[in-house]
Amino acid sequence: MRQLISDKSNIILFFKYIIKILIIFLLNNSILNKKYIDNKNTNVENILNILNAKKIDKLLYIKNKDNKDNIYFIKYNNSLNISLYDFLFINNIKTNSIKNLINQFPKLNKIKYNQSLYFFILKNKNISKIIWNVSNKEKIIFECINNNFIEIKVINLKNKKLIIISSLFNINFFINNIKKNILNDNYIKTIKSILNKITNINKLKTGDKISIIILNYNNIYNLNKSNNKLIGIKVYTNNKKYYALKLKNDNKFYDQNANSVNYNKFIFPIIGKINITSNFSNKRLNPITNRISPHNGIDIKVPIGTSIFSICDGIIKKVSYDKNAGNFIVIDHNNNYITKYMHLNKSLVKTGQIIKKGDLIAISGNSGRTTGPHLHFEIWDKKKAINPLNVKKLNKLHKLYGNKKIEFIKFFNKINSYID
Ligand SMILES: [Zn+2]
Repeated sequence: MRQLISDKSNIILFFKYIIKILIIFLLNNSILNKKYIDNKNTNVENILNILNAKKIDKLLYIKNKDNKDNIYFIKYNNSLNISLYDFLFINNIKTNSIKNLINQFPKLNKIKYNQSLYFFILKNKNISKIIWNVSNKEKIIFECINNNFIEIKVINLKNKKLIIISSLFNINFFINNIKKNILNDNYIKTIKSILNKITNINKLKTGDKISIIILNYNNIYNLNKSNNKLIGIKVYTNNKKYYALKLKNDNKFYDQNANSVNYNKFIFPIIGKINITSNFSNKRLNPITNRISPHNGIDIKVPIGTSIFSICDGIIKKVSYDKNAGNFIVIDHNNNYITKYMHLNKSLVKTGQIIKKGDLIAISGNSGRTTGPHLHFEIWDKKKAINPLNVKKLNKLHKLYGNKKIEFIKFFNKINSYID
């Protein structure tokens, strides 16, 4: 009996649901609710103004004479008591488009009661744009490009807007699409350079989340390039978060611990396969003297005539000859780090010369005391030789201290609280 009542109530619920879907379907498709506007300018702000003025909230067709892809508009309100998927489905939106959207942004399924989502739909029934009024202070715009969505979160702060643009797909595609609309070219270079410093740009894959953080001192929807200032980047990859954020009046970007990210990774002095014939060691049996002595660098076997490159930016400290080291070069990297390159055939630089990472500095040889052609390469940190194979980054960290650090951490936490 109890089973029967339960079945009965399930059937009633089911019919109630069907009726609700039918009513919504009829409402959405009734001619009465189709309002037309000529739209020469599909500016989001204009459209929202028109909607608010006319108090239209069901369906609006936007006639766009110039554009073959007529856009129409639907509003989803959570008080409709129907899931977003069902709502889009009964509005004939392509299921692929819905699935991509909800997979990429599951939070759309959790919009609060009485909140609205505004959908801009193309004639081919694909979603082109979504606007979510999260609160008086916050709007989220989802722009669809090739079936993927870029999320643009706009937050009103005191006399400025914080804009966070996030994407879960191909980094180059993402950067190129921001470039067109939102950021100046010089910022794009900065983004790529910072990405390379905080993570390996080539190893980023679809599904890794990248957020670009921008401050704008102007109109909320006018994402005009010239008003946008890049202030940070967040990358989420392999379950790790990487940050670069800058404070007002400071050109450097810092991570979550207030350590500068503007330091260079070094390159190896030789291009191609590295064949190490003698490792760094504090106690090495010297093959020539037969005595135990420290080997302050690594020996890389290379034929005479191989190009030797500077591993990092710096200034040439010494170019000289020594009966043991042969022709050698010492580079000062301006930050307690010094590198030495020995047994060269020929040096191509002069003392005092300023060099960049990757500059050709010498031709390898077999000069000095050796058992065969090779490059002896050393890295010194302050006055101590270190194993080059254990060094990942050469330039010293720049850190914020005291009040500056406190100010930065406070700012960091505030900005980070807006990024998912
Ligand atoms: Zn050596």
